[in-house]
Amino acid sequence: MNNLTFHKLSYGVYVVSTLDENRFTGCVANSAMQITSSPATIAVSINHDNYTNRCVSKHKVFALNILSEKTDPAIIGTFGFKSGRDVNKFEKVEFEEKNGLPVLKEACAYLICRVIDNMETATHTVFLCQVEDGDILDSNEPMTYAYYHKVVKGTAPKNAPTYIPEKAKQEEILIRREDGRWVCPVCGYVYDGDVPFEELSESWVCPICLQPKSEFVKK
Ligand code: FE
Repeated sequence: MNNLTFHKLSYGVYVVSTLDENRFTGCVANSAMQITSSPATIAVSINHDNYTNRCVSKHKVFALNILSEKTDPAIIGTFGFKSGRDVNKFEKVEFEEKNGLPVLKEACAYLICRVIDNMETATHTVFLCQVEDGDILDSNEPMTYAYYHKVVKGTAPKNAPTYIPEKAKQEEILIRREDGRWVCPVCGYVYDGDVPFEELSESWVCPICLQPKSEFVKK
């Protein structure tokens, strides 16, 4: 089977935010779809290894934050490339509480979801949810996975359903062919700005995951 066929499916980019013991947590999800309109239900898939999976399973509620093309890529870095086990992801992120759940200011819309059923797969839990509330926050276009990949130049974290090892390998080969490209070792972002990488300020950080310039490696 050609696994790249899956990239012909359309995906969005979302942050699932939920409750933790004494704080909020969340992770990036790109598999979310509306199942029915009345009653409004959606399904969201989250990897077993994501700490957020455990928190959603426990608390049965979450907000689906729909990211837009204008969303700061650092939001994806914080929620997609770090673990809620290790860091408080909401510490430096602006949000507002809606129905007791954190909704990101960087989102263009949100849905408040209550888990009504779930299905286990080998690697992911599919949460079936009743939508209890939702609203549009701004008029920006929602970010598709294709936009994230082509325009933001982001990659899929290993826990994402869209992660394809063969593709990651192909991209690595492609980067290697283009000598002298500086690559973020955490999220795979390849620097392609107009200013030569060496001339960037020492305070410059990866626009996706905020790794410092000093961590970048030349491929
Ligand atoms: Fe990065």
